[in-house]
Amino acid sequence: MKLLHFITILLALFIISCQQDPQVRTTEEELTGITAEVKQKIINLGFNPENSFKMEGGYMVEGDIFLTEEELHSLPNNRIPVLEQYRTTNLVTVNGTKTISISVNKDVASFTQALDSAIARYNAENLTLKFKRVSSSGNIKISKAASSATYLANSGFPSSGRPYSNISVNLTLLGAQPFGTIATVLAHEIGHCIGFRHTDYFNRSISCGGSALGESSSGGAIHIPGTPTDATQAAQSWMLSCIGSGHDRPFNADDKVALDYLY
Ligand SMILES: [Zn+2]
Repeated sequence: MKLLHFITILLALFIISCQQDPQVRTTEEELTGITAEVKQKIINLGFNPENSFKMEGGYMVEGDIFLTEEELHSLPNNRIPVLEQYRTTNLVTVNGTKTISISVNKDVASFTQALDSAIARYNAENLTLKFKRVSSSGNIKISKAASSATYLANSGFPSSGRPYSNISVNLTLLGAQPFGTIATVLAHEIGHCIGFRHTDYFNRSISCGGSALGESSSGGAIHIPGTPTDATQAAQSWMLSCIGSGHDRPFNADDKVALDYLY
């Protein structure tokens, strides 16, 4: 009798799971636009697919990194970005020194001074890569994100030796932040544009809270000598995944080592 009960319960569990599973999957796919195939490709590129979603022309991963359809489907394991303490060969090509121009679209002109501050932070490091603000048509253009956007800002990684060319900023959410936070977020997005990855890529809960979500390191990563292999919230790296309201993160000592090593 006991055994029968057990089988009945097992059967009931099985039926429930059979009924619920497809519904959950459908709902998740419908909500995010992330199919199992897309999810696997995101993993193959070395990113955490958790909370990814489809946008026009591509996919948003890890909160603020945009992968185009083309990148997702044509570059399996080829374009592995870097993070603070790790690098790959896919960076901005610099022969001697190089200056990257950045322009601010009129509709987000209120961020101009914060951009100047972000540029000053980079240029103070005496890197081979320099930045300057131009009035229009910069190598990187800062533009307004769609009004429905739920992120502070987003950008992407370099390709063919050139920096990613667009930073989208959320005028409502980011515009409500103090100057230092806006400067930090813009410096963070510029960091992605030249190849930096999130410092806590292996465990986003370090800066974002919640459960410990890491990501695949498929494709490998090369440690930058002189920088730590872990990350802490206390260290306040400018490339941490999430930032608290009102926080300012100028480059810390490890950030500077990483910047100097790469550029
Ligand atoms: Zn980011």
